[in-house]
Amino acid sequence: MTLHDTYDPTNIFAKILRGEMPAVKVYEDDTALAFMDVFPQAEGHTLVIPKDVTARNLLDMPPEKLGPYMLAVQKIAQAVAAALTPDGLVVTQFNGAPAGQTVYHLHFHIIPRNEGVPLGRHGGGMADIGELEKLAGRIRAEL
Ligand code: AMP
Repeated sequence: MTLHDTYDPTNIFAKILRGEMPAVKVYEDDTALAFMDVFPQAEGHTLVIPKDVTARNLLDMPPEKLGPYMLAVQKIAQAVAAALTPDGLVVTQFNGAPAGQTVYHLHFHIIPRNEGVPLGRHGGGMADIGELEKLAGRIRAEL
C-alpha cells in the first residue's frame, strides 16, 4: 500500500471498529478507539485509531476531525505515562508501506521506553492477552 492506493474497509482496524475482530480496549469515545497492540514493541504499547473515517494515514485525515483525534492521542499518552511511569514515551505514526506501515487505517503508536531497555521489533511476538488486559486496566484507571 503506497500513498497512492485507496482505503480498504477490510483492514484489521476497520474490523475492530465494526466489532468483527476482538481487541483489548483501553478507551473509546465518538472520535477515537484506543487498544493494546497485540505485537507490542514494549510493555504498554497502545494504539489510538480514529472512528468514522476512511483515512489510511495522516495525510488522508479530514482536517476538521484531526484536532479531536489528536486530543484523544494525547489523552491516552498521558494515561499510559501515568499508569506505567516509563522514562520516556514514543508517539509515532507511519504513512505507506515503504515508511513502515502495515495496517492501513490511521493509527498512532504510544510506546513506553525505559533507560537501557531496547525497543522490541516492529511486528514481533504476540503478547499474552491476559497480560494485555491487566495493562489496559492500569491505563484505564488513569483516564
Ligand atoms: P503499523 O505497522 O504502523 O501499521 O502498525 C500496525 C500495528 O498494529 C503493529 O504494531 C501491529 O503489531 C499491530 N497489530 C496488528 N494486528 C493487530 C491486532 N489484531 N490487534 C492489535 N494490534 C494489532
